[in-house]
Amino acid sequence: MNVSQIFGINVFSDEVMKQKLNPETYDNFKKAVSANKPLTMDTANEIAAAMMEWAIEKGATHYTHWFQPMTGVTAEKHDSFIALKRNGKPIAEFKGKALIKGEPDASSFPSGGIRATFEARGYTDWDPTSFAFVKDETLYIPTAFCAYTGEALDNKTPLLRSMEVIDKQAVRLLGILGKEVGKVISTVGAEQEYFLIDKKVAAKRRDIIYTGRTLFGAKPPKGQELNDQYFASIKPRVMAFMQELDAELWKLGVPAKTRHNEVAPAQHELAPVFETVNVATDHNQLTMSVMRATAEKHGLVCLLHEKPFKGVNGSGKHNNWSLLSDTGVNLFEPGETPAENAQFLLFLTAVIKAVDDRQDLLRMSVASASNDHRLGANEAPPAIISVSLGEELTELLTALETNATYEGKKRTKIKLGADVLPRIPKDTTDRNRTSPFAFTGNKFEFRMPGSSLSVAGPNVVLNTIVAEALDEFATRLEGSADFHADLNYLIRATVAKHKRIIFNGDGYSKSWEIEAERRGLLNLRTTADALPCFVKEENRRLFEKYGVFTEAEIYSRYNILLESYSTTVDIEALTAIDMVKRNVRPAAEAYEKELCDLIGEKTAILGADSARTEKDTLAQVSSLAEALVGSLGDLEKKVVYSKGLAGQPQAVWCKEEVLPAMEEMRAVIDDLERIVDATFWRFPTYNDLLYSVN
Ligand code: ADP
Ligand code: MG
Repeated sequence: MNVSQIFGINVFSDEVMKQKLNPETYDNFKKAVSANKPLTMDTANEIAAAMMEWAIEKGATHYTHWFQPMTGVTAEKHDSFIALKRNGKPIAEFKGKALIKGEPDASSFPSGGIRATFEARGYTDWDPTSFAFVKDETLYIPTAFCAYTGEALDNKTPLLRSMEVIDKQAVRLLGILGKEVGKVISTVGAEQEYFLIDKKVAAKRRDIIYTGRTLFGAKPPKGQELNDQYFASIKPRVMAFMQELDAELWKLGVPAKTRHNEVAPAQHELAPVFETVNVATDHNQLTMSVMRATAEKHGLVCLLHEKPFKGVNGSGKHNNWSLLSDTGVNLFEPGETPAENAQFLLFLTAVIKAVDDRQDLLRMSVASASNDHRLGANEAPPAIISVSLGEELTELLTALETNATYEGKKRTKIKLGADVLPRIPKDTTDRNRTSPFAFTGNKFEFRMPGSSLSVAGPNVVLNTIVAEALDEFATRLEGSADFHADLNYLIRATVAKHKRIIFNGDGYSKSWEIEAERRGLLNLRTTADALPCFVKEENRRLFEKYGVFTEAEIYSRYNILLESYSTTVDIEALTAIDMVKRNVRPAAEAYEKELCDLIGEKTAILGADSARTEKDTLAQVSSLAEALVGSLGDLEKKVVYSKGLAGQPQAVWCKEEVLPAMEEMRAVIDDLERIVDATFWRFPTYNDLLYSVN
């Protein structure tokens, strides 16, 4: 297979547009997009006609406005290209109007109270910065999804808004530094972790089917202890899956780059080449959906849950984030000249300030019921936000702050904007894998997002909070009388004020939790703790100030996130209850019966003392079964009570009562699994699941 020949063959790309549109239309299109202005109807009509012709050549019969409602996954409703002429003859038709705007009547998507159902209509707006593509005989048009009143009902709209905000502030600050730049974009590479399980095995677990994770299961004798899975050679069946996945993604223009086995058994990773954040977000959604579909074809199930198995590593999505100017400069690339280095340090300290000032928002942006099982679970960053910079850069910043000698390559004092900074090494060996937010040479790697999360949310927050810091810096430096002195002071003062957020040590350790608390850093352990930060006054003011969210949008999202959290926990609890009643308890009882029969028969033949060990086992099973019924009753009561609650109180109830009750019940089930004869156990075990693919 020749990658360059298949890459993007199903994408209505810039190149295709250049070919298919007449030069004037193409020009009008480019101008409208770069100025963020609407297209004229003539231009739209021409593009739509060319798009349809191209899509039909690619085998498409339908088109869809592809959007990203607040469910976290994508949504699509297909319309065929068919129109009937007056004489009743069918023709293929796709008008500019249908390209630009859709009205999916998507009244069942969560709106968090923004839309009353009587005015439930929403509309979709083409995002021309993300290319249309053909998949499954359908032309997909990436769109934003809004209420008729203009409020965003999706993940894309605020992301596009946040891109404008950071563009404006970054360009402004660069201008103050004497750099003429037309545009700054945020770039993202989203590394995606996932599990592959044999479909026939997974189909026997209702918890996997309904909740995406196992709700119980005893740890197998061999997990990831030997570290023999990470980067290990890839099994043929997995390789066949990966090859097809890559090829399908390439055809759709998704730049899949790296594939490898991850730490846990049955766990793998795909990393793409980075792209503009809205395209990277669309492409990550596509990646997840193509992963699921390709797995199906190979008799596999792709689990994107953050913690499918207790006791083995969960899956994250590392969000690599940077800023790139239209002059091709990565703003987090330490430069070769004094001026470039001043610019680098200014942008770097802006991020440090932003992350420290808005820890709560970053934490909130990755909060979900599923990610709660992962963060702080000894294999993922803790719920505490901190930034790791590496020893060298930290030392440099400290030297700047205290005006001390920098002990790097050679002893020297650094004068910002006058000296060349020592080359800051991009050290790949010294990467701090335990940091939630790591500077990795020329970008930041935010490692807290969970594997199933849309990266839109975290990047909306990142773009907005960094824009705020850049705005503040620009305001301070604008019209400065002594620019160098002010620049120096600004960086030093920012480091002094925000250095508490810098931490290069082991983020998984208990001692860091204690140290972080001493430093006054937030430790928002669960979703129920993190979500209220969204609606705090200073955070609402931030989003409103930059036009990223209106107050109504913030409250609607807060409500949706709360509901999604409680609903997820509710479904998990109901699934666990169902499995216990219909399968676990019957298995224990059947085994008890078997033991009773055996004890009876043995006693009849050999006398009362002969069945001592069997009686011991029976007593153990019996007492566990009793405990199981007790914890089942407790959980059922708590679930019923939860149904009567809503909003924050329900989320808190789920966290404090329902989830612990599930955990208590699980402990009993796992003990039972360890003792009940395997032929009586009615589900595949962790061993069966984790080693199901060869
Ligand atoms: P690793 O972290 O394994 O050393 P890389 O540093 O090459 O690998 O990149 C990991 C991810 O970071 C990839 O998805 C890559 O595209 C992305 N990445 C690299 N540079 C940037 C950048 N400037 N902006 C955003 N993402 C980037
Ligand atoms: Mg990485």
